[in-house]
Amino acid sequence: MKTERNKRPKVMIDLNLINTLVEGCPACGKKFSLGDMAVPAIGSWGGPKLIHEAEAVFDEKSQCYVERRHFEGMHPEK
Ligand SMILES: [Zn+2]
Repeated sequence: MKTERNKRPKVMIDLNLINTLVEGCPACGKKFSLGDMAVPAIGSWGGPKLIHEAEAVFDEKSQCYVERRHFEGMHPEK
């Protein structure tokens, strides 16, 4: 039986989040801007951290976001 697990948490960067994400996005190293869409993704940095949505791919297998370059490293055949 197939269970619905299409949970894709997505957040819009607001002032509160900007204040907690002073280091910026670990994927591109840039600061977040108000209104950016971000997702918690795993990557070379380890556990889930918020990165820009455009820099993440959704891994259907593990049902979580993975940073694009990290994902390609995990699936070199693609
Ligand atoms: Zn980024």
